[in-house]
Amino acid sequence: MAVTAGSASFGARLDEALRTLGQPAYRARQVREWKYRRLAAGYAEMGNLPAGLRQELGRTVPLSAVEPIQELRSDDGRTTKALLRLADNQLVEAVLMRQQGLNEEAPRNTVCLSSQAGCKMRCSFCATGHGGWRRDLTSDEIADQALHFARVLKGEGEHVTNVVFMGMGEPLDNYDGVIEAIRLLNSREAFGLGARNMTVSTCGLVPAIRRLANEPAQVNLAVSLAATTDERRSELIPLNRRYPIAELLAACDDYARQTRRRVSFEYVLIAGINDSLDEAQRLKALMHGRLAHVNLIPLNPVEGDAYERPDELAVRRFAKVLREGRVPATVRYSKGVDIVAGCGQLRAQRVG
Ligand code: SAH
Repeated sequence: MAVTAGSASFGARLDEALRTLGQPAYRARQVREWKYRRLAAGYAEMGNLPAGLRQELGRTVPLSAVEPIQELRSDDGRTTKALLRLADNQLVEAVLMRQQGLNEEAPRNTVCLSSQAGCKMRCSFCATGHGGWRRDLTSDEIADQALHFARVLKGEGEHVTNVVFMGMGEPLDNYDGVIEAIRLLNSREAFGLGARNMTVSTCGLVPAIRRLANEPAQVNLAVSLAATTDERRSELIPLNRRYPIAELLAACDDYARQTRRRVSFEYVLIAGINDSLDEAQRLKALMHGRLAHVNLIPLNPVEGDAYERPDELAVRRFAKVLREGRVPATVRYSKGVDIVAGCGQLRAQRVG
């Protein structure tokens, strides 16, 4: 009997199919090992499973919930962006960033994951927000994005060292899906990536930040700040009206205390909007005495939007104010601008 496609997880469908087929329990372990550890691209590779079983599972339990339909590699070869199709034809993006290790350091291969098809948050500078929200991704749809790039990297003799939830969607608005994906990626029986190597990025859902601090797998937290006054921040990130800066920072402080992790603050720099030296001074003051790190992200302009990226000098001056105030700050130019690797931009080209 065929197991019909539905919302059940890969694990649940696998267990159900194996039970229906009268297979011993260890088969589920074998398949999981092939999927998450040995990174099989299909059931055909699973040599220790009987051929008939491989065929049956191939028909009834899709190994991956995401299907790459377009792949772009940046000119420097370091960044690969995948457009992935889900079972109901929704499209999401995931990005692989290969960073060479400095000196003796091992290379870092970071995968940027989407957590929702679309987004409800409607941040004014973000391509994903413009299209509205379609649905939450399932934990398999999220984790399988990482597995897709793990297979790509395996072909290069490399592996995924980090994942960041900085793709499409607001991860903390899909709390259960994201936590279950983290569990799958973290579990030794599945992908086995350390929680320390995972970062959840949020535009500031305060109650969910507080909940996240109490999860068994303590991941890194990144918060998209984008402005230093509530007035300006509410214009850029409407959620700020519900959870203003003071409340957000208090939740971040508690997160840092509880997890002993430095919180990162993402600050997208938009010319003439939030890149003044006054703003830099206020940001310095806000960060003062906090266990924090600031990532300055010069805007990746979204087609059709009026916002512009500040010139390099303005970016350097802004960063200098922070560093002079001993606030650790890194400028992060979006990787792969030549392959529209900014949040939601490749998908926007497809679906308009
Ligand atoms: N919803 C989450 C994660 C997705 S956005 C969040 O808001 O954090 C990931 C990061 O990309 C955020 O820091 C966001 O501010 C930034 N971002 C979004 N659109 C951008 C753009 N056009 N240029 C540069 N950074 C952008």
